[in-house]
Amino acid sequence: MILRVDKFLSQCKIATRSEIKKMVKAGRIAVNGEIIKKAELKIDSDTDEVFVDNKKINYEPFVYYMLNKPAGVVSATNDNVHKCVNDLLDEKKEIFPVGRLDIDTEGLLIMTNDGELSHKLLSPGKHVDKTYFVRVDKSIPQELVSEFKKGVDIKEKNLTKPAVLNVLEDENSAYITICEGKFHQIKRMFLAFGLEVTFLKRLSMGGLNLDKNLNPGEYRRLTKEEISLLK
Ligand code: URA
Repeated sequence: MILRVDKFLSQCKIATRSEIKKMVKAGRIAVNGEIIKKAELKIDSDTDEVFVDNKKINYEPFVYYMLNKPAGVVSATNDNVHKCVNDLLDEKKEIFPVGRLDIDTEGLLIMTNDGELSHKLLSPGKHVDKTYFVRVDKSIPQELVSEFKKGVDIKEKNLTKPAVLNVLEDENSAYITICEGKFHQIKRMFLAFGLEVTFLKRLSMGGLNLDKNLNPGEYRRLTKEEISLLK
């Protein structure tokens, strides 16, 4: 990306643009090994190397994590009563969760400071698939597979969009894929047939799978390949 060096450095949270101007005047900033004289200098963030006090700066305005959300933690940036997902991260850069999981739901939660990506993944028109492992209090009748496919009346304006239900051998658990994110959606879909969800864990979102090596409460950065799956 082509952008001004002061914008590049402010996006990297090195300093404000006016501070960067002063740093340029003081000869503290170099591009490709040469001290620069103007903060307006245009650079290519993909190929040019920018140094502040001889330290190379990596262009990383956005950060992306996958968190294995544990139960008992709320999907919010702060909360007066409960622990929230941001308390689990060491990084404190204006990061927020992409969407919400209920307090008792576990599993994949993307955390980022990229508002555009978040908006894209959550916008109702986008229909990003989300797969969950679900356990309920009774045997799941086989007819629920077709009922979920048709759409379920959860007392909203419209039926839910078609969902894919794969009932597992024990008949009390299943994989379910939905493409919406209505409030308590999966719990309400089962409840419409008299079944209560006793455990719910999100396993994937839009092609991104929860890393099996992450224990509840653990997180890691997304790889470049994983980020591109979401875009
Ligand atoms: N559906 C629910 O009922 N709860 C969640 O946390 C996610 C989907």
